[in-house]
Amino acid sequence: MTNRRRILVIGGLAAGPSAAAKAARTNLNAEVMLFEQSETISYGICETPYAIAGMMDENRLVFHTPESLRQQKNIQVKTLHLVERIVPAKQTIVVRDLRSHSLVEYEYEKLIVATGSASNKLAVPGENGRNVFTLGSRDDAINIINYVKTETPKQAVIIGGGYIGMEMSESLRALGMDVTLIHILRLPMEGLELDTRERVLIELEKNGVQFVTNAQTEAFQQDNTGKVRHVITNRGTFAADIVILSLGVSPNVRLACDAKIRLGVTGAIVTDERQQTNVDGIYAAGDCCEVRNIVTGKPMYLPLATVASRTAWIAGENAAGGRAVFKGAIRAVAVKVFGLDIAQVGISSEEAKANGFQVVTSSITANSKVGVMPGSEKITIDLIIDKRSKCVLGANVYGGHGAVLRANTLGVAIQQKLTIGDIARFDLIYSPPFAPLWDPILVAANEAKKKI
Ligand SMILES: Cc1cc2nc3c(=O)[nH]c(=O)nc-3n(C[C@H](O)[C@H](O)[C@H](O)COP(=O)(O)OP(=O)(O)OC[C@H]3O[C@@H](n4cnc5c(N)ncnc54)[C@H](O)[C@@H]3O)c2cc1C
Repeated sequence: MTNRRRILVIGGLAAGPSAAAKAARTNLNAEVMLFEQSETISYGICETPYAIAGMMDENRLVFHTPESLRQQKNIQVKTLHLVERIVPAKQTIVVRDLRSHSLVEYEYEKLIVATGSASNKLAVPGENGRNVFTLGSRDDAINIINYVKTETPKQAVIIGGGYIGMEMSESLRALGMDVTLIHILRLPMEGLELDTRERVLIELEKNGVQFVTNAQTEAFQQDNTGKVRHVITNRGTFAADIVILSLGVSPNVRLACDAKIRLGVTGAIVTDERQQTNVDGIYAAGDCCEVRNIVTGKPMYLPLATVASRTAWIAGENAAGGRAVFKGAIRAVAVKVFGLDIAQVGISSEEAKANGFQVVTSSITANSKVGVMPGSEKITIDLIIDKRSKCVLGANVYGGHGAVLRANTLGVAIQQKLTIGDIARFDLIYSPPFAPLWDPILVAANEAKKKI
């Protein structure tokens, strides 16, 4: 082994490059190498629904090349290199060069696992049709873009009414397709409050999306060219020229599992506050890990780029000899569904009840700006509060422009365990083009105080 500390990183999309860069910055003498099985690293997967809609050139989503990482960050990058095995006893990884098909063993002093997640599938007949796509990698995005260009599909069926299902509904409608969204429950966006979900459904239908409720997909009917023509469900059969599966993701943990790295109740890798796994010298970060939910104190699976980047910095710094800690996260997510902005921070009322909190919910609708100002829109805030501690546990914020940034303010309050009284005393801006005298956050807090 070289005299310099050798830090190897597996995975090159979001967490991997962040961890590698942080490690190289922390220890200028470290030799940092990153392995990625695909051709691309450092890719803006979150922007792909908009690239598919034609709002930007897909090529612009590649933020770093192997060359730029080498030059700017002092990281050696090996793309088209699949890590097949971690051998903790020898402190090595076994890597297949996908160009030459040769196997090479690399020694490490520290290893960072950032293998991410994989898109869920249904495992029903016909799912391998050549017009059935998931959206979890650059290859997926390019395949969809190319298919749309060459085959000009008119009828799209999206299966799964979560965040990606919402974003893809809007993208495919923007491309002029008829969109049918098949969902297993009565309402889209499980995990949000009931009123938020009902509002999302209205927005989808208002924008021409046919939402099929309580539908279980049973099979895909292919033609003799291998294209799916119909999606068969227990609620009827739907014609399709293109099918998008948006069924959530699962942590990619096969390598970790084989190396006896401990998995948690969520099925993802367990780490301590330093992102260290149970195996000496091995750290993990990103979608392959679970994190501590700051509100409940319990482990949760939160596959978000924000969490991936933060945990990656911790893993990178510690692998390079630092002492950084990650205390956990709250859910902080937003999605745009046509004209509706929706955000969730913290936990839902259902989760709060399941975790033994004494739950009070409170909902208000207020103007985003002074009512007479052009562009003033309604914003609804649902607060979930613990009656005993008076702390805010979660919030849904939806409506017009300004909903998401208000959710951010509430997110900080939840993360810092502030009470509803603390929030009611926030000094928030009043300025007619931006916010009314009593910001919707203050209106919500004062209303909730009355209820408690
Ligand atoms: C369409 C879409 C929209 C999203 N929007 C948002 C958003 O708005 N906000 C947000 O916070 N998050 C969003 N996310 C989630 C976010 O993209 C992920 O949380 C983030 O990409 C996780 O990064 P990661 O590096 O941990 O994992 P991944 O992105 O899964 O990357 C893991 C990488 O590891 C590689 N790899 C795996 N195994 C091996 C191996 N054995 N050898 C070599 N390489 C390997 C994979 O090829 C992959 O490139 C979105 C995700 C998608 C798909």
